Amino acid sequence: MSRPISITIDLDAIRHNFDYAQSLAKSSHTMAVIKADAYGHGAVATARALGDKAKLLAVSSIEEAVILRQNHIKTPILLLEGCFCSSELGVVDDLNLQIVLHNQQQIQDLLNASLSAPIDVWLKVDTGMHRLGLTAHDSAQAYQQLLTSQNVRSIMWMTHFATSDQPDAPFLEGQLEHFRTAMALVSNNVSDLSFSMANSAALMATPASHGAWNRPGIMLYGISPFSQPNTLAEPLIPAMQFSSKVIALRSLAVGESVGYGATWVAQQPSIIATVAAGYGDGYPRNAKSGTPVLINGQIAPLAGRVSMDMLCVDVTHLSNIKVGALAELWGKELDVNQIAHWSDTVGYELVTRMPTRAKRSFI
Ligand code: PLP
Repeated sequence: MSRPISITIDLDAIRHNFDYAQSLAKSSHTMAVIKADAYGHGAVATARALGDKAKLLAVSSIEEAVILRQNHIKTPILLLEGCFCSSELGVVDDLNLQIVLHNQQQIQDLLNASLSAPIDVWLKVDTGMHRLGLTAHDSAQAYQQLLTSQNVRSIMWMTHFATSDQPDAPFLEGQLEHFRTAMALVSNNVSDLSFSMANSAALMATPASHGAWNRPGIMLYGISPFSQPNTLAEPLIPAMQFSSKVIALRSLAVGESVGYGATWVAQQPSIIATVAAGYGDGYPRNAKSGTPVLINGQIAPLAGRVSMDMLCVDVTHLSNIKVGALAELWGKELDVNQIAHWSDTVGYELVTRMPTRAKRSFI
């Protein structure tokens, strides 16, 4: 018998979450950000599940786009980080991709390229994230150059927010203002320009950021992007169910410890359930003792350090737990953001870094 690890992806949930995203901004188009293998949910399966609903898919690299095309995904694809070298423009041309332009080299490469047909480009303005993008002045200059290039079919202005997960932070307002200022350098009427700003958090909480296209990622997988609980995230349905089973049970006397480092010590006579899931399966090793685990639908605390293939749970207060009991590590009943909180990270990281050792199944 194989290890009882199960990673199940609910494609209906992804469709539901996409519909919710679209309903929040009816006059915008909604793309599906499916980079990093759809945040660990399977990019090809997600693209297939969304079908015609998503008119544009966003990935971060040529390699990710190639996998989609090899799997016969015909939907237009946007490369969020653009091309890393001019030779990639040939693939962009062949696969009919759209690209983000965020530095001068990419712009020069595009202007000098000989393409079989003009492409759609996204001009990224750095409005405060200071990661990728051109200054307002350079964006305006690039826009004028791109407008007259025969390699360019359309230009979408874009920027990315640093603090949209904290909707009340004044930083976001500053980015909006900076973006409008950049666009005003090329047009007296900014509303004539097409633009894209909103990720999941901004799409839900900052209507002023809605543009021609919105770019939700994490919310499509049913995970809240917000740093604090937010009712706007309540309609989301988690798509990933990560579970396993109890493979051993033992009684410990007061003073006996559990796991590597002997960090968890029984303060009372205790029953410890060993679950077949560890950091080799994607469960965070730095989850602290006390992190909730659902055993047969009942909450119980993680006890001691997570091992590569196993973790232990204090089930002293649960009734009727037997070897073979279901252990839900995260999913519909246990928010991955809760596990992330106990592990000093975010739900984004936990789902995205799930290893391939356990195969995903799709429902
Ligand atoms: N747009 C860009 C440029 C991104 O880098 C990302 C993700 O990091 C997204 C949109 C989607 O963000 P989220 O997953 O927070 O919705």
